[in-house]
Parts: sequence; C-alpha cells; structure tokens
Amino acid sequence: MNDVVNELLNWYQENKRDLPWRKDRDPYHVWISEIMLQQTRVEAVISYYERFMKDLPDISSLAKVDEDRLLKLWEGLGYYNRARNLKKAACIIMNEYNGMFPNTYSLIIQLPGIGEYTASAISSICFHEKEVTVDGNVMRVFTRFYNDESNISKLSTKRMIHDHLQSLAITDFGMFNEALMELGERVCLPNGMPKCGSCPLQRRCRALQKENYFLFPVKDEKKEKEEVEMTIFIFIWDKKTIIQKRKNSGILHNLYEFPNIDRILSEVEVFQYGSCFGKVDKVCKSISYTHIFTHKKWKMQSYFLFMKEVNCPNMFYTISSIESQFALPTAFSPFLYQLKEELK
Ligand code: SF4
Repeated sequence: MNDVVNELLNWYQENKRDLPWRKDRDPYHVWISEIMLQQTRVEAVISYYERFMKDLPDISSLAKVDEDRLLKLWEGLGYYNRARNLKKAACIIMNEYNGMFPNTYSLIIQLPGIGEYTASAISSICFHEKEVTVDGNVMRVFTRFYNDESNISKLSTKRMIHDHLQSLAITDFGMFNEALMELGERVCLPNGMPKCGSCPLQRRCRALQKENYFLFPVKDEKKEKEEVEMTIFIFIWDKKTIIQKRKNSGILHNLYEFPNIDRILSEVEVFQYGSCFGKVDKVCKSISYTHIFTHKKWKMQSYFLFMKEVNCPNMFYTISSIESQFALPTAFSPFLYQLKEELK
C-alpha cells in the first residue's frame, strides 16, 4: 500500500466532504463526532452534532449537563450509554486535566467510553500521533486491496491490519486515517458495487484486478437476534398521552417509553389493561412496527386507548412537552408520529 499512499492522500484532499467537525482539529469536536459516528451514517449525524454543539459547545458544559438533558440531546442516536460515558469522561477531563483534553493515545484511551478506534482517531487527527484507526470500512478496503481472506470477525485479523498499516511510511497519520475511512464510506462501498473507477487505490488493488471484490471481507455469519413481542399502549385523553420512565437498568434504561407489555394482547385484554387507568371509551388497533437493536428485535403492536375519564391526570403529557423534555428512543418514535396524526 506504500505505493498508493500519496494517491490516497491527494484524493482525500480533493474530495473530502465539508463536515462541521472537520472545520478545525479540536479534540472535543473530533471526539463527539467519532462517538456519534459509531453505527450512524455521516449524513444523519450532522444535524445531531450541530444540535449537541449548540447546547454543549465545550467540555465544561458537557461535564455540567444534567442526565435528562443529555439524553434528550442524544435522542435518535441510540446506544445511550455512549452519551453517559461522554459526560463521565468530560468530568474526568475537568477534574484531572484542568479542562484540557489529554494529548496522547495512552491517556485518551483511559477515558470512559473511548476504545482503541476513537483514541487512535483523536490522537492522530488532533495531536499528530502515529496511530492508525481500524474499523469496518478500513478492514473492507484492506482485505479487498490485498485479496486477504483473513476473517475480519477475529481480533487477530484486526491486529494484523493495524500492525501492517502502522508500519507504512506515512507522515500524517491523522489525514491517512480520515482518507481511508472516507474511501471506505464513499468509494469502496460495503453493499453494492464499489466505485473502482474513481478509487485512488485502483492501480494496485488485487480485488479490482481479479474482479472479486464481492468475496471480501470474509466474516462470520450474523447470529439470529432474540425476538420480543410487545403491545404498546397509546392512551389519549384531553389531547395528552402517558409516557413513563424506563427502569434504571437494562436496555434503554432511564429513557422514556409508552406503557407496554412483553406479549401481544387481544383488543379485549387491551381494554382491560386500560381500565386500570380510568374509564376507557374505545380501543383501536394502530400500527405495528419492528425495531432492531444490536442483539434484539422488538416486534410491537400498538393500540390507541381513548379515555373518557382518568384516575391520574398528572401521568398525561402533551405532545409538545414530550418532544421538548423527554428522551423518547427511536424504537417508540413511530408511535409518537401516529399519535400526532390522530390528534390533528
Ligand atoms: Fe475497493 Fe475498488 Fe478501490 Fe479496490 S479499487 S479498494 S475494490 S474501490
């Protein structure tokens, strides 16, 4: 790959996207964007990033933010522990580093929520350390480029790729890392045809020579996800609905949800459930929706429960207060959307 490093860097300088976190090499900006970019596409992250920076423009404001506000800012990105770890790390930076972001890989990786990938990205991009980042994009480009059949699900493969890239004659590892990631996202595509005609590595790429890019990367089959069936209750009373805080452990802990139960109920059973909250006028079936997490699948059937009277009015919230105050995970947003349509 040494032969094509310069071509890659030139391509990056000419083609890199103008992204808000690339306006400078501030470690706070790179850190927040890298954490948001785990599992989420660049285009989708931009608006989340801008909203986050507007409210929490620096490490000190992140260290002071209360958890509900933080989770609200993270709403839609999923993996809410990442947001909690950001705050924990910000507190450590304020207390132990006087508010200055630590400037070496070995210090950065000790912060909560920061693994090898993020520590390499921050230390190489912001502090010019000789650290390569290896993620799915990089492994795909690498294994195609070398026609390497190593299984990328194995840690030893990741280590081998890391060591190989780390040994290349590169002066700016930060730019190299960004270039390789950008190439993986925009040219050497994971699904569909890679755009080899516009790839700066094409002169040496073995997958292109053999036209066998679809064979790479080699990886383990995905495991079947555990499936959970659920009934979602969307109460309607006085143009308001019930949302509640989830318990403080397990998936989506401490976030908000529509009341629900872990099995599919009949309309009669839904009516009986609703009666515990007051007098039910009628029950109507609404949408079903499947939400996929990393290891689980929630198959949800929702019902509207139109209430004549309610036992506890203070359990009910308006749509605008839900949208402005409570972090409702993406798993529940289709039901909020249906409720808004219903109340129009
Ligand atoms: Fe990927 Fe094609 Fe570039 Fe090879 S030439 S790295 S297969 S995009």
